[in-house]
Amino acid sequence: MNFKSLIYGILVLILSNILWAGPKPKNIIILIGDGMGVTQVTYDVLNNPNSAFTRFKLSGFSLTQSADNLITDSGAGGTAISTGERTKNKSIAVDTAGKPLETIIEKAIKLQKSTGVVATSSITDATPADFVAHVSNRKSEFDIAEQFSNCNVDILIGGGGKFFLPNGVPGGHRTDGKNLVDAIKSKWNYVDNFDDFIKNNNKKIFALLDTANIRPANERNFTLGQITKKTIEILSQNKNGFVLMVEGSQIDWACHGNDQKYLEGELKDFSTAINAAMDFAEKDKNTLVIVLADHETGGTSITKGNFTNIKLEFISRGHTGTMIPVFVYGPGAELFTGIHKNYEIGRSLKNLLEKK
Ligand code: MG
Ligand code: ZN
Repeated sequence: MNFKSLIYGILVLILSNILWAGPKPKNIIILIGDGMGVTQVTYDVLNNPNSAFTRFKLSGFSLTQSADNLITDSGAGGTAISTGERTKNKSIAVDTAGKPLETIIEKAIKLQKSTGVVATSSITDATPADFVAHVSNRKSEFDIAEQFSNCNVDILIGGGGKFFLPNGVPGGHRTDGKNLVDAIKSKWNYVDNFDDFIKNNNKKIFALLDTANIRPANERNFTLGQITKKTIEILSQNKNGFVLMVEGSQIDWACHGNDQKYLEGELKDFSTAINAAMDFAEKDKNTLVIVLADHETGGTSITKGNFTNIKLEFISRGHTGTMIPVFVYGPGAELFTGIHKNYEIGRSLKNLLEKK
């Protein structure tokens, strides 16, 4: 690179940040439906006249390709959203050389905002890990758990207790003898069930609601919306604002399994989280809500059935490379309309974040 193109590059970078003269939000809520493509959203909207997705007036599309693959995995797909950088499959918030990338949650902590990460998978699974941890291989969940136990996120909710507890303790799978739940208890209010979480008013809560993944929506008696509402109530007490990521993790697994009933339950559950976020944002008027996916799963389509009985078809048990829909509301929402690459969306989210 010669000197002229270096200067040009720097100017473009500075201008692209300055040129957005529109309003910037105090709070950002990122809702990720893992594996949720256009068909999955269509299915929810056709089934529910009051579908949460219909609350949005602005939307766009995201291209989900990773740095080394036409078909992304959730590691690279989530990293693009959490850091604004394109990386290789399996990566968790590291660049293609394995160097850690700052996540939007880490930037928010620096700006003294409150932060939260919520998932219905293990908290150490790729999508939530993308916002908190830095490893080259998403399968290193014991390392990811250790990074979670050392992080500064205020509210963490998911499954995955087995990655935090040692062998010998019920449900524990760690072989290094460490009990990370003890470490967590010194920093957070630790809970291991929904009832203890929902009545908790602590500002710092670490909730591992299952030793494995949280039960599918069809098999539990609480919703992601209840968790999201409660989390927002706590985080929004910070006058500097907050950043919250909520994942409907199992939309992806339902589509991997080509399981329509499972998918329907997960979409319904994820919608309760969208509604909780939108209820807050519409009142607050200073919150950006973005609903998107890391990729589509299943090559899901609608080719059979009728209005009262839609039959989904799946052409794959894996991920696909089609664009996914993006729904946005609040200050800065216009930045996300049209077609963007996934990492451009992550970059815009980070750029919108500033001290309030
Ligand atoms: Mg996920
Ligand atoms: Zn998947």
